[in-house]
Amino acid sequence: MDRDAAYLASVLGIGFCEPMLLPEAGLSASESTGSFESDSMTKQKSESAIPEKLAERFAARYGGEARVFCAPGRVNLIGEHTDYNDGLVLPAAIDSYIWIAVGLREDEVLEVCSENLQQEAQISLNERNPRAKKKWSDYVQGVAVMLHAAGIHLRGANLLIHSGLPSGAGLSSSAALEVSSALALLAISGQSLEPLEIAKLCRRAENDFVGTRCGIMDQFAACLGRAGHALLLDCRSLEYRALPLPPNLTMVICNTMVKHEHAGGGYNTRRAECEEGVRLLQRKLPGIKALRDVSLPELEAHQRDLPDSVYRRCRHVVTENTRVLSTVTALRDGDLTALGKNLAASHRSLRDDFEVSCHELDVMVELALRSDGVLGARMTGGGFGGCTINLVHTERVNAFCESVSTGYQQATGKIPDIYVSKAGAGAAEIVQR
Ligand code: ADP
Ligand code: MG
Repeated sequence: MDRDAAYLASVLGIGFCEPMLLPEAGLSASESTGSFESDSMTKQKSESAIPEKLAERFAARYGGEARVFCAPGRVNLIGEHTDYNDGLVLPAAIDSYIWIAVGLREDEVLEVCSENLQQEAQISLNERNPRAKKKWSDYVQGVAVMLHAAGIHLRGANLLIHSGLPSGAGLSSSAALEVSSALALLAISGQSLEPLEIAKLCRRAENDFVGTRCGIMDQFAACLGRAGHALLLDCRSLEYRALPLPPNLTMVICNTMVKHEHAGGGYNTRRAECEEGVRLLQRKLPGIKALRDVSLPELEAHQRDLPDSVYRRCRHVVTENTRVLSTVTALRDGDLTALGKNLAASHRSLRDDFEVSCHELDVMVELALRSDGVLGARMTGGGFGGCTINLVHTERVNAFCESVSTGYQQATGKIPDIYVSKAGAGAAEIVQR
């Protein structure tokens, strides 16, 4: 058992060498529709009508009955840029989704239509050496390619896609698109896979087909989210535990409206810098496989062996793993002050050491930390734009949203979208009644 695993075991009171918690085997329809609960009755009504309306539009477009699947976005409470360093993350699935209505076709083609983009694309299941075309349908094709590589025979299908998630905002619409596609393609072809296998396969689609070198966190949360819980995931062993979130706390997600660009951008550069850090540190610490294996005193002892920027990237990852553990302890003990301190420290580390924040994210976090009722705030997701996660006392949520929205508009001239979210369930089929 490595150092982190021993600590995790003591924090959680579970043996991490024992069999891991099994993923909940496929959510039932009642559980999945239950995740559409919302504080706002209007939202609840309009969201629960989405699958039925989507199936109606599917019938009008393609004819025939559709099955409907959904996968949620996710927000990461803490543990940023740790997943691809074999580290620890603490995401929660959110109650915003991508839905896909799917029906069989007679030929060996996937016709995909995105209602949000008002674009369609055709994907041949017989394409030799399929390659990414640098467009949105790559996410669906990547999933089909990986399913095929896993020995699963897919049938031709029409897929009508509708999303309630902002795209490119750090809430993981890409993983929601992959996971909902995987569920739809598997079901329509009469096949099934365990949720964890679907998460791994969708990650391969994004890494090896689309070309974004993301870790497993996004696909994992989309597959295995649990209502009212955050998920502590060990990205090395894929062991995880669902941790209840305090009932009097609400997750408020503030969108800076600055789009990040992941594929080929700064995200991949940061990943390469972490790998460079491991390569250089291995000369002195031959036992390490990833930054997960390095302690802060070890890193500090070898500061002079690393270029300054690589040293600071490594310091972020090493300290962030510790902050995840400290946040888990704070959640367990109901220590809301410690929870807030960890989130604030994570933001500073991402801003100053990992350098993936931006002016708008910093402004949004500063405004949040000055608002009443906030316990903690930080940027969430890969960075360079996107969203902040704010943990707010539930009774202060309206005032919080008001003050952050006004302040952000004054400071940047941009009107932010604000999502008051619940931790929701993972991907599932929606059974029409
Ligand atoms: P994030 O996952 O944080 O939203 P990414 O850059 O990883 O950001 O993924 C966004 C991409 O996912 C979009 O550029 C698009 O290619 C695809 N995508 C997301 N939502 C949709 C949608 N509703 N229809 C088509 N493509 C989508
Ligand atoms: Mg993404």
